[in-house]
Parts: sequence; structure tokens; C-alpha cells
Amino acid sequence: MHDFIPAVFTCPSCKLEDDCSLQTHLFDGEGRAYRVGDAVEVQAHSLPDDVYLSLERGDDLEPGHISALEIWYCRECGACNIARLDVDEGKITGVQSIELSPETLAPVTRVQHHISRAQFVPVLRSMFAALTDEHLMFMSLNDRIEAIVSGRLPADFDEPG
Ligand SMILES: [Zn+2]
Repeated sequence: MHDFIPAVFTCPSCKLEDDCSLQTHLFDGEGRAYRVGDAVEVQAHSLPDDVYLSLERGDDLEPGHISALEIWYCRECGACNIARLDVDEGKITGVQSIELSPETLAPVTRVQHHISRAQFVPVLRSMFAALTDEHLMFMSLNDRIEAIVSGRLPADFDEPG
């Protein structure tokens, strides 16, 4: 069971604003509606691994900080969009629809499992002219987010040319 957070998001694809209900599995799962500012029970290390991928970088961030990428579907055009849900010291501090960028991904510690590696390819291609299909084949989702945030491809990649 998921909880949800009512939110108004603008779809990056069709630009329409819509009342959305962001579903999340970060909390107690009793089907409650939460809002920014609400206190929540979230156990940083007991979240199910099959629902969220824990990024390696998550261990370096504040123990009380969780920032999760979640999915929301536009009801108008059906686009699969991404939102970021931030929790600090047991309180929801933000929920926003995001475009993928170094800035928006910097705090992220967890990624909902329906978000695919392919969704990070356009921003990777825009940042790294030298990126090849072979590079992409070997880049995990963790690697992809790390590359976007750090501005560097994994160190063991040969720089072509
Ligand atoms: Zn849309």
C-alpha cells in the first residue's frame, strides 16, 4: 500500500497544470494523504530495496535526509514524469516535479524502481559529447546519476579521441 501527497504539477511534455496525487512508498503505507511540513515515520535503512534503489551517494548525505525520485503520470498526455520528494529530520520538506539536471539530482538518495535507466539518457547525451552507446551499456542507474551530478563520466571510461 502506498501513501500519497496531493500536489499540483505542470507536465514537462504538454505543459498542462494538473492536480496530481503523488504516490510514495517511503512512509508507513497506510494510505494516508500527507502534505509538505507533515511529520513522517521513515526508516532510512529499512525501506524495501525492491521499491527504491538506494544510491551509493546516499550514505554520504545527512543521516536524516532522504530525497527520492518518484513517478507521476500526466492525466492529459500520459507522459511519465519525475518528481522529487524530500524528507529532512522526519518532516516532508518538499515535493516538486523536476527536470533532470545536476541541480535537481544533487540531493537524491533513492530512486523509485519504475524509473528506468533510459530516462537519464537525454540529459547524459546533452552533457557529454563523448558518450557512446557502449558507455551507456555499462552505466548503472547509480553511475548515470553520479555522472550527471558530478559532471564527470566514470573514471574507468576511456575518453575517445
Ligand atoms: Zn502531459
